[in-house]
Amino acid sequence: MAAGCVIGVDLGGTKLLAGTVDSRLEVHHRAYRLARPDDTAAVLDQLVETVQEAIEAAPSDVLGVGVGIPALVEPSTGVALDSNHLPLHGVSVRDVLAERVGLPVVVDNDANAAMLVEWRCGEARGASDAIMLTLGTGIGGGLIVGGRLVHGARGAAAELGHMIVDADGPPCPGSCPNHGCLEALVSGHAIGVEGLRIAREKPDSALGRAFAGGREISGSLVTELAHDGDGAARAVMTLMGERLGLGVVTLVNIFNPEVVVVGGGAIGAGELLLAPARAVVARRALPINREGVRLVSARFGAESGMLGAACMALDAAGVAIG
Ligand SMILES: [Zn+2]
Repeated sequence: MAAGCVIGVDLGGTKLLAGTVDSRLEVHHRAYRLARPDDTAAVLDQLVETVQEAIEAAPSDVLGVGVGIPALVEPSTGVALDSNHLPLHGVSVRDVLAERVGLPVVVDNDANAAMLVEWRCGEARGASDAIMLTLGTGIGGGLIVGGRLVHGARGAAAELGHMIVDADGPPCPGSCPNHGCLEALVSGHAIGVEGLRIAREKPDSALGRAFAGGREISGSLVTELAHDGDGAARAVMTLMGERLGLGVVTLVNIFNPEVVVVGGGAIGAGELLLAPARAVVARRALPINREGVRLVSARFGAESGMLGAACMALDAAGVAIG
């Protein structure tokens, strides 16, 4: 701990977590708030207050702050662009926070942060080329190419959920004008939609009985019933896994990664999603790209955004991680 510690922040649309983290990624304190995304000033006030709590709990010097947010972030200015879930569009979270807490601040997209922690200490450790997909309400993406996290010209690269996998597919949610994107077909929401369709088709299944009993057919319910062995729920997960596999085929053919890491809330389904996805990759990817690539669940779960943001701050401070 001689190297000091940093504050890693996951600023989500519904929750805010600031962790006091050392260079071995041990968490010494967690400051947790339910987010209040009603207006910009309230979000920033709550962010500052939560970070200050984490700073006060630090057992050694605090070297800086890293923040992961569910928005595109312009690297040169720290300005949030296209922020669907928080009223931060056009705000330089980096500059505002740095001024109010008096520490260096780095800000990036939350899926980039998740990619970073998996690369430094998780399933993509040691890889020169790796891909992260976070399956939640939508799909976030992160890319390591040639040993560097890829941002693109304006911080908008690695929006991997918006690759087209079905030209005539359903509309993509949010601000995307496209349809048939991977995230329109594979997500917590999509699991619920397909679950409802199959529940109606198979009323004698556990899924069908849950629907008949008035339960909401959500992604988490379908996942739970699939884990319990219900054939109908498992058919939903297989369909989702095969669709995920189509996206992964395109990614491995373009980037030739060593590993594709899948995280986010929906990866609670684990092998129920990944095994059918692997089968599609084995069948449809170019031989050179499918040989040797690993498709695995993320090591860091709900705290990957916070820990990845801590990695960003440690990198900025020049502190070796691990
Ligand atoms: Zn889209």
